[in-house]
Amino acid sequence: MEDNEVNDEEFMEIDDDCNGWDEDEDDDYEQFKEPILANHESNYTPKLTSGFQYNIISEGEVVARRQNIINEVKDVLGLEEDVVQKALIQHRFDKDTVIHNSLESSTKMDTDDAKDSIFDPDAESHLCLVCFCEYPKEEIIIAPCQHFLCKTCFYYYLSTAIKGGPQCVRTVCPITKCNEIISPNLIKKVVTQDDYKMYKKFYLLYFVDCCKAIKWCPAPG
Ligand SMILES: [Zn+2]
Ligand SMILES: [Zn+2]
Repeated sequence: MEDNEVNDEEFMEIDDDCNGWDEDEDDDYEQFKEPILANHESNYTPKLTSGFQYNIISEGEVVARRQNIINEVKDVLGLEEDVVQKALIQHRFDKDTVIHNSLESSTKMDTDDAKDSIFDPDAESHLCLVCFCEYPKEEIIIAPCQHFLCKTCFYYYLSTAIKGGPQCVRTVCPITKCNEIISPNLIKKVVTQDDYKMYKKFYLLYFVDCCKAIKWCPAPG
């Protein structure tokens, strides 16, 4: 997959107030006012002409909006950012559902509510639950679900998931029947910088996909 930079992308937001375009973004609009369509697609109605007004918003604004939702849920529930992000990813950034579910079952998202583990986290060496080899504890990553994985297995697992495309955002722990979503922070710790860059792009597109009011616009530059 080519190395797409998120920075080069822009997003469109349906303008609820119908105030029209941001004045300084008119040039971008001009480029897409008349989409080029193949003849056999003449029945296709481009969204830009469907009567909605759009604002072009930058990648930074989309990131800020995502962070606002994360902070809001964090404040209401008093939980760690990692835990909140995983829950939001799982529920497609539907913050009301995340808050409702969490308040209804207060132990459900509690990080202390670890799954049964027969392993002692303080031991000098651990068995990787994927390759079943013994590793010194420095070589082992303990996922929040208390599953132990060696760095190599975890790296290959996550790196393969990221190369598999946008669905990598919903990657769960590789241990059978464990549905723990791997948080962005944990992914950052395990994979290479390039892989993480790609993951970040997919994470942003996932958020945009989850938000009904924001559409991705492949505007150049
Ligand atoms: Zn392993
Ligand atoms: Zn797990």
